[in-house]
Amino acid sequence: MMATETLSSEQVIALAKQYLIGNYTRYPVCLVRGSGSWVWDAEGNRYLDFFPGWGCGLIGHCPPRVVQAVQEQVATLIHVPNTWYTEPQVLLAKELGERTGFGGMAFFCNSGTEANEAAIKLARLNGKPKGKYKVVTLTGSFHGRTMGALTATAQPKYHAGVEPMLPGFNYATYGDLDAVAKAIDGETCAILLEPIQGEGGVNIPPPGFLEGIRELCDKHGLLMILDEVQTGMGRTGQWYAYQNWAIQPDIVTLAKALAGGVAMGGLVAKPEVAEKLKPGTHAATFGGNPIAARAALATIETIEQDGLLERARHIGAIFQHRFTALQQHCPIISAVRICGAMIGVELKIDGTPVVQECLRKGLLINCTQQTVLRLLPALNIIDEEIDEGCNILADVLQNLRSS
Ligand SMILES: *Cc1c(COP(=O)(O)O)cnc(C)c1O
Repeated sequence: MMATETLSSEQVIALAKQYLIGNYTRYPVCLVRGSGSWVWDAEGNRYLDFFPGWGCGLIGHCPPRVVQAVQEQVATLIHVPNTWYTEPQVLLAKELGERTGFGGMAFFCNSGTEANEAAIKLARLNGKPKGKYKVVTLTGSFHGRTMGALTATAQPKYHAGVEPMLPGFNYATYGDLDAVAKAIDGETCAILLEPIQGEGGVNIPPPGFLEGIRELCDKHGLLMILDEVQTGMGRTGQWYAYQNWAIQPDIVTLAKALAGGVAMGGLVAKPEVAEKLKPGTHAATFGGNPIAARAALATIETIEQDGLLERARHIGAIFQHRFTALQQHCPIISAVRICGAMIGVELKIDGTPVVQECLRKGLLINCTQQTVLRLLPALNIIDEEIDEGCNILADVLQNLRSS
């Protein structure tokens, strides 16, 4: 069996039922091709994608510079371990470090959860001389699925059935600085949080919250770790979402959009913090491999040369305008939360039928926390495509209201 595109969606689904472990809720559609903000299924149907790759498709499906960089690199050098130097990896570290504003130094891995594992280990290594190892995280957070990052994820539903979780994590209510202060004790080494919660419902922090966390970290000698796996790389109109506020973290973690859709994760840390990650303390075999690093460099080049940071802010303004107007006619919308191209529309009802009806009409969106429609459109989506998708969504929401 060679070209998988010769199978129908139905045939692929039948094979999946027999041979794939069923740990995902999947839509009954087999996708075969993508370009920009569009994907096609095995039957040739076209869908407009307002949620490309769960946020990994920051610059759309098959972005041309990334495709070319990967094609060149895959024919030159696929993988060598980190016992050698490679040019793409150091050039990428330079691009990411220079953009932090604090001379950050990079470590690379392959996913978001791994990036957070590395950050937790780095925080513990820094706290070790003072006997500090505990990490404070926030309710509604999402940091990944491996045991450390999963323990950090303060949502009981993700812990159910796989307890006991790891020791050394304290949880505080999101947005409540007093609660965060109370969760800190003499053994705390870090606070880990998303600058804007993604999976938790596109939660934008209340005024002063991130600044307050920074002050608490300074006061108690803790590291501030920002999980920018979803918000990083320009999603919010800044290279790092924290640049929307007057703060700097000590460690920032990245993945999802980092390599334009190719699997890659990483962290960038202040040099005096990063130095604790000495030989033997941590590693990732595939981390920073030439293909992923070239893809990430091409992603940064695309964002820079095509002016996509500014475009992210403009996309946010368009969606704000559309949804604020829609809210007037659509009382089931209870809140609209937008920062750049990170968009949450909270409903007073379950969003599942909205997602399904949009799919039927050829629009791909996401719903998180049951009631929050989440859109993470590509930064190079054009105005006409935004219009087309918003018209479908408005239509679906207004028909739900009347039914
Ligand atoms: C998706 C996500 C993760 C986990 O990333 P994986 O690559 O799936 O391990 C961690 N943190 C945040 C904020 C995310 O959105």
